Amino acid sequence: MTTACSLTINNERLHQRIEELARIGKLGDTGVCRLALSPEDLQGVLLVKGWMEQAGLAARIDAFGNLIGRLEGKDPGKPILMLGSHIDSQPYGGRFDGAIGVLGALEAVQTLIERGIQPEQPIEVVAFCDEEGCRFNKGLFGVRGMTGKLEEGELERQDANGITRREALLAFGGDPSRFEADRYAAGAIGAFLELHIEQGPVLDARQEPLGIVTGISGPLWLTVEMTGFAGHAGSVPMPMRRDALVGTARVITALNQLARSEAGAPTVGTVGALTVFPNSRNIIPEKVTFTIDLRDIDMSRRVERERQLRNVLEEAASECGLTYTVREDTNSEARFCADHIQAVIREEAQELLGYAPHELMSGPFHDSLALSYVCDYAMIFVRCKDGISHNPLEYAAPRDIELGAELLYRTMVRLALGEEV
Ligand SMILES: [Zn+2]
Repeated sequence: MTTACSLTINNERLHQRIEELARIGKLGDTGVCRLALSPEDLQGVLLVKGWMEQAGLAARIDAFGNLIGRLEGKDPGKPILMLGSHIDSQPYGGRFDGAIGVLGALEAVQTLIERGIQPEQPIEVVAFCDEEGCRFNKGLFGVRGMTGKLEEGELERQDANGITRREALLAFGGDPSRFEADRYAAGAIGAFLELHIEQGPVLDARQEPLGIVTGISGPLWLTVEMTGFAGHAGSVPMPMRRDALVGTARVITALNQLARSEAGAPTVGTVGALTVFPNSRNIIPEKVTFTIDLRDIDMSRRVERERQLRNVLEEAASECGLTYTVREDTNSEARFCADHIQAVIREEAQELLGYAPHELMSGPFHDSLALSYVCDYAMIFVRCKDGISHNPLEYAAPRDIELGAELLYRTMVRLALGEEV
């Protein structure tokens, strides 16, 4: 589809930065591995911090490991207009997830500065720390930190190598002793805008470059541990076994069926990580730890699926002679985008594209999810090829990213000045 008018942002600079950031933690030809709070993550953050400073922003890394670049407003006391996303990645990640939201936001604000426009309120561009949650098994760390939503014991969570988050955060330049001081007071953030790749196939199937997000369906994350009894794989007769992996397999299959049980519903259920002990070909598995990810826009349906899943667990455990524990890691509800910001995005998109973009819910969560509890928020989605994400094959076309960043810029200007571009 063609665009109705030309762009204000500097496309070339935006693409160069996306490319340069993608070289840090590069995985194969097209992927990245920048685990949260790793040396690669820090290298990325320092690179972006340098760009923020070049653009004229006052940049700092806060106590939670967030990178924050601030453009002062005419009235510094006004609630902040915040833009951003994250630059940490999955271990087997793509170049665009999060990165286009941070670099697109920086491009938008740098364009504003270069046009000599000072906003009414302060504008902050943020690369939030540890959005992905894969290293310490709990995401949105930085954004929850700055909004006062951290939970007991989070700093003691360990990664696969036994490093605690506290240790990793200190090495990164964060500082738990300053948490209190770096929290944003209630009302300090006025609104949040996030540009992100869709990470799903809807826009690509519609052959449309951009989408307007209506809300985020919150995830339920559980960690289940099923325990049986180890024995020789060659000698213990089948009826006498207590095989934890057989019980787990039943749960995995049942979750898949439960998520599909209502035709047309957006429910999704996934077991994505599995640890088998002792993990030997001739020992009956004694203990299996696995994760559950369950999402739905409709909370009552999600609660019902969780109830059914817990019944399945109970049945599988009793049939296989297992004991089990369930730990709830995350339980978020659906959060809807602010109508008035969506209306601005709709108007600006109509002008930019010449038609009204598709509006859709987000299955994946984003930093926006945590911010939705303290301010109005809105999101713009950029099409990604075949909906592939959390995979080195993840791809968003340069033109689509430009259009997304331009729409972010125009929306930001409207919110910052309350006038037309
Ligand atoms: Zn992301």
